[in-house]
Amino acid sequence: MNRLEGKVALITGGTSGIGAETARLFIAEGAKVVISGRSEEKGSQLADDLGNNASYCLSDVTKEDEIENAIKHTTNSFGKLDILFNNAGGPVGAGLEDVTQKDIDYGVHLLLASVILGTKYAIEPMRKNGGGCIINNSSIAGIRYRQGDPLYSALKAAVTHFTKMSGVELGKDNIRVNAISPGAIATPIFWGGSAVSNSLSKEENERKLQKLEGNLANAVPLKRSGLATDIAEAALYLSSQAGSFVTCQDIVVDGGRTAMFNEYSS
Ligand code: NAD
Repeated sequence: MNRLEGKVALITGGTSGIGAETARLFIAEGAKVVISGRSEEKGSQLADDLGNNASYCLSDVTKEDEIENAIKHTTNSFGKLDILFNNAGGPVGAGLEDVTQKDIDYGVHLLLASVILGTKYAIEPMRKNGGGCIINNSSIAGIRYRQGDPLYSALKAAVTHFTKMSGVELGKDNIRVNAISPGAIATPIFWGGSAVSNSLSKEENERKLQKLEGNLANAVPLKRSGLATDIAEAALYLSSQAGSFVTCQDIVVDGGRTAMFNEYSS
């Protein structure tokens, strides 16, 4: 299928989990994709594996100039920007009684400011192009209780609301802005994100992933683990012609988890 033929996408945090899987799917659907991230080694390797329609850009989303640079890298490499997936993220805090100002500053930069600034810098190239599609990776943690990290939950709720507000403002420019709220999806975020997964061997990461998929299967009505590809497929729908009348929405992809009553869900 060529549902993204001729499209150019930037995926932040594209070297792992949901971002890497989305890059694979978008390229299979005909897009050219820039994956941005902080690991030069991992990013260059993935871009090589994905072929000529992929490019890697070193970019830390907690730094405004590096966000702007990733957008420039995309337009310089492939001539335009049609799709921005603000995906980068990870664990940010501690429990309510242990959280620090440093955690809060880091969390705001990583999860919220990155989305706001990514959106800001995408507007001009998308407007020039007659429109575009921005997808923000939010979370069901922004909708319901999640044990242990209220900072993460609050910031994801803010991401979802920002999505709707910016979607209203950018509708006149034919720029659609949507969020995806994943449920529990088996990725390295569960064992500390890239800070931990980069220090483990491929085999160790694979073992952890398989064990996690087994554990997550019992947590949802569908009785299987959420996979990175489930979120990639939602991003494809939003980015393709099929999603062309969809904006300001939060697409929940959670195997039914938010419908379950679970006082102490994680
Ligand atoms: P992951 O750890 O596999 O991937 C996260 C990516 O973000 C990694 O490539 C990491 O290096 C990158 N990243 C982290 N900090 C960064 C920074 N400062 N600058 C640039 N890149 C940075 O985890 P994932 O599950 O694929 O997470 C992707 C997104 O999905 C995150 O925003 C996460 O909050 C969201 N999410 C995940 C789940 C889940 O269950 N996996 C559920 C809800 C939401």
